Formats: sequence, structure tokens, C-alpha cells
Amino acid sequence: MLGPVVIVGGGIGAISAATGIRLSDPAIEIIIVSEEDELPYDRTQLSKEFLLSGETPSFRLNLDQVTNLRWIGATRVEKLNTELKSVELSNGQAISYSTLVLATGATPRMLPNLTDIAVPVTALRTLRDASFIRKQLQPSTSLVIIGAGVIGLELASSARALGTDVTIIETLPHVMSRCAPPTLSSFVAAYHLRQGVTIHLGCQIEQAKDTILMLNNGLNITADLVVVGVGVEANDSIAKAAGIACDDGIFVDGYGRTTCPSVFAVGDVTRQLNASTGHFARIETWSNAQNQALALGRNLANGSFELYSEVPWYWSDQYDLQIQVAGASNGAIEIVRGSLDEPNFSIFQIHGNRIVGVSCVNRPRDFAISKRLIANHAVVERENIGNPAFDLRTYI
Ligand SMILES: Cc1cc2nc3c(=O)[nH]c(=O)nc-3n(C[C@H](O)[C@H](O)[C@H](O)COP(=O)(O)OP(=O)(O)OC[C@H]3O[C@@H](n4cnc5c(N)ncnc54)[C@H](O)[C@@H]3O)c2cc1C
Repeated sequence: MLGPVVIVGGGIGAISAATGIRLSDPAIEIIIVSEEDELPYDRTQLSKEFLLSGETPSFRLNLDQVTNLRWIGATRVEKLNTELKSVELSNGQAISYSTLVLATGATPRMLPNLTDIAVPVTALRTLRDASFIRKQLQPSTSLVIIGAGVIGLELASSARALGTDVTIIETLPHVMSRCAPPTLSSFVAAYHLRQGVTIHLGCQIEQAKDTILMLNNGLNITADLVVVGVGVEANDSIAKAAGIACDDGIFVDGYGRTTCPSVFAVGDVTRQLNASTGHFARIETWSNAQNQALALGRNLANGSFELYSEVPWYWSDQYDLQIQVAGASNGAIEIVRGSLDEPNFSIFQIHGNRIVGVSCVNRPRDFAISKRLIANHAVVERENIGNPAFDLRTYI
């Protein structure tokens, strides 16, 4: 390989691509350019441990095993020149690459009708956001979270642990509606209500003034801090400007290849071809960014073609609930195994005689086995799946 591999971005996608290369080849020169003025950190802890305790020992991502690496922080890649094979940096310099990996992640969507409110409004994506939120969260604070997705709910859980008063406003009729089956969604909503969170579903903010949010259902809510968690948009603008095919995400195949030779992409910024569905989709999870990038790194270093086709999955920690979800989360028959009261249960999404999705609460063993059953398209009997005494490993 002539010239360095240049990786744009400083999150888990970037670090994992570098790790994948280095574990296979000690010599390839790697340069990482990241716009954040922080060494890489674990973004998933920002809504969990970090809010509760400040920095934890495992918070920093491990760059030590990536030797022969040049790290350029606090610097943005402004432009790609795919003909010259170089990138232009915000400090005016240009760097040539043999291979370019885009791991630029995503940026939270903000809402336009919050400009007149007199209290702080923020998203939760970066260490800076989380540090700001952490300082504001006191028992006397009225926190309003807009959006009942995973990040909003994790923030609610951490804020309740700190004694903060929490209200959630969600446009859709359910919490976690994009990423959880109906039974899990109802269970999680009820759990938050029991922990003292106020949830307004099926409504939105019409106007915001001083410290008041006026909803379209006639309710007025007072806030000291507003956190917006209504999804993210892919940071694909530099790729789009270079003529690479994008549509809220850089299109990549199962090998991380974009439509431009020598340019690859991984993580939240990608719209990737799913080997099992045949559709392109954005997958905004830690495991996806990590494993897609590790596979790419190995392929780049070895000149190999290892197809990345992991069943998409994520985890979420809320109160004492360890939630793990894999595969499809709706559109199939649901079978529950275990007890929703304990809480210790798994919800299986069954299509025909196959498991297409699983959501586990405090049942990591079910989750590990079921993920394999989904990946292997194992044929199962419905009556066995719902029986907690039945050993799921029988189907492996
Ligand atoms: C608060 C929070 C909690 C989460 N919890 C979970 C969880 O529990 N489980 C789970 O599976 N997932 C979780 N996620 C999602 C997970 O963190 C992301 O899927 C993952 O971080 C994506 O990694 P990435 O490297 O693709 O992108 P990112 O982590 O977004 O990193 C991209 C980096 O690129 C930088 N960048 C962008 N453009 C440029 C440019 N032009 N030049 C230089 N640098 C640039 C960005 O500033 C950023 O540092 C959570 C996310 C958040 C925000």
C-alpha cells in the first residue's frame, strides 16, 4: 500500500478501523483526523455512567495498541479531493492518502421552534454536551426531554437517579417506537412512570417562550433545561460534495466500499447493504460501528474480502434494566419467555418458524443464544420458545 490510510473521525468506527488494520499489519501508516478536541472516548457512557459519576476508568478508547499512528485532533476534514487522493484540513494543510476511511458519525437533529425559550437547550452526543448536562442536573432542576428514544430514556433514568424532575415529550404514541417491539415499549414506558418520570405521548411543542413549553394538546410545561433527542443525521456532507453516492448516509456494500474507489466508510455515517434483507439502511449502534470497521480494517490490511453481515443489535441500560435487542423489532408474532413482573424476560419476534428478532431484559444468556439463532436462520417450534424451561441451545 503506497501512502497512509487516512481515517476521518475519532469515534469507535475510526478507532476500530485502525485497530483492524494494525492487528493484521504492523507497518501500514495510519493517520486519524478528528474534529473533536478530545482523545477518543466511549460515547455510549455519556447518557449512563458518565452522567452519574463523571469520568470512569473505561471511558477512554484504547489507542495504545495502534502503534505507528498519527493522531490529528481538533481538526476538521473540510474537503475530499478523490482525483488527487488527498483531504483538505481546517488548518489549511492537505494530506495525501492511499486509502481513505470515512467514520464521521452523525449529528443530532434540533427543533426549529425552540429559539425563543430562555433556558438552555442542548442535544446529547458529545462529551461537551454531557459535561454541560451533568452540571445542570440537580434535584431542583426540571428537565424536559424531547423524544422518547433510547438516548432520551437513558438520560431520564440517569437524571432520576440524581433526583431531577423529568418530563418526556414524544410525538409518536409509544416510547422507543423505532427500535423496540410493542410489548417492550409498553413495559419500558410503565417502568419510567413508576420511577416518577412524566411522559406525554402523541404530542409536540407548538411554541416555547421564557421557561414554558406549550404543547399542541393544550399543556404548558415549565423547564430549567431542555434536551432534544429526536434522532440524528449522517455527517455525509464532505462525501456528497465529492460526488460519492449518499442519501442521509454514505452508501456502502458489505465490504465498506463507497461508490468511489479507495474511499470506504463505516459506522453511523453509512447507509449499508444488509445481506439478509437486501435493503440499504442506517444502523446507529456501537456494535455495528465497531465490527463493521474491524472487518474493513482487516480487509484493507490483508487484501481480503471478509463480508460484514452481523445481525444488528444494541443494548440500553435504564434503571436496573439491562435491555438488549437484536434483529427485527416489529412486524412479526411476539412470544414472551419469563416474567415481565420480575423483570426478567425475553420477547421473541417470530416469522413463520424462524426467530427474526429478540429483545431481552436482564436475560443476557437468552440474548447470546438467540442472536446466534437469528444469524443461523434456525427453525424453531413456537411452543418451545415461550417455555422458560426449554434450553434454547437445542436449536443451535
Ligand atoms: C449518548 C449516547 C448513548 C449511546 N448509547 C448506546 C448504547 O447503549 N448502545 C449502542 O449500541 N449504541 C449507543 N449509542 C450509539 C453509538 O454511540 C454510536 O452508534 C457510535 O458511537 C457510532 O460510532 P461512529 O464512530 O460511527 O460515530 P461517532 O461516534 O459519531 O464518531 C464520529 C466522529 O467523527 C467526527 N467528525 C465528523 N465529521 C468530521 C470531519 N469532517 N472531520 C473530522 N472529524 C469529523 C465527529 O466529531 C465524531 O467525533 C449511543 C450514542 C449516544 C450519543
